[in-house]
Amino acid sequence: MNEDCQSVGVHYHSCYERHDTGPGHPESAARYQALEAALETLPASVARVGGRKASVAEILLAHEHYYHDLVYRSAETFADKLPTGDTAICEESYEVALEAAGAVLAATDAVMRGDLQSVFCAVRPPGHHATATRGMGFCIFNHVAIAARYLQSRHGLMKVAIIDWDVHHGNGTEAIFIEDPSVLYISLHEANMYPYTGLASEQGQGAGQGFNLNIPLPHHSEGSLALEEWENQIAPAIDDFKPDFILISAGFDARVDDPIGGLRWTDDTFAAMTRRARSLAARWCHGRLVSVLEGGYNPGGLASAALAHVRALG
Ligand SMILES: [Zn+2]
Repeated sequence: MNEDCQSVGVHYHSCYERHDTGPGHPESAARYQALEAALETLPASVARVGGRKASVAEILLAHEHYYHDLVYRSAETFADKLPTGDTAICEESYEVALEAAGAVLAATDAVMRGDLQSVFCAVRPPGHHATATRGMGFCIFNHVAIAARYLQSRHGLMKVAIIDWDVHHGNGTEAIFIEDPSVLYISLHEANMYPYTGLASEQGQGAGQGFNLNIPLPHHSEGSLALEEWENQIAPAIDDFKPDFILISAGFDARVDDPIGGLRWTDDTFAAMTRRARSLAARWCHGRLVSVLEGGYNPGGLASAALAHVRALG
């Protein structure tokens, strides 16, 4: 880590507005514009991190080739949704999804170089519902999963922890790493909600047994319950695992007043969770942490919670 460098970075870009999901869709460019406006208010001490487009080889770190080709062809033929599930697309969506995945990789590069300690990547579409072979739940490519594989294959890291605090269970990330003991997946999510996976009993399979931690939370529960789970389950699991890097699937749809989520977290909840993640990263992996936007469908709430998250990174 360079002594004089800025320690916190943020990535956002108007290119993500080009992913047009159609009128009335909750995962909209308008939600992203509200977030961009909020991030513009951050002080100059927060570095702006540039992006890049992911290569096809990088997408294939977490996805099957035929699924990549399916996304490409769907966009090229002006399909209005992916044939694999409930992800609305437009002709620009394939290119935007490559930008989103690439930006997360660029952020991990910046952290690995020691230019920055942590980066929040405000990208869309979201990614954590995408499996190796299937886009669903507004997601196309699984950026966090690609980044975990990239950290291992390109930067030589052994163990990556993914903490997913989106209100929905990240079924795609779980499925990609379910048999993999080198990636610890931890999810806090609302119970009995889309995609209806994420039972506490699912703890991994085969060699991955014990490296998948699902923490379903009751409908309408407060942030204090989530913070208790950090003490009771998340911090001990990270301490046992001793990661070389922490990735966060940072959805903000567990925030009170989200039109889709049914939890009652506040901006303070997100700030407190961020401080806990930061402290675990400092303990185990030189502070290396990259967080990636997932859901969050109340534009004002998303903007406010994401700002609280970025401020707590510093
Ligand atoms: Zn979500």
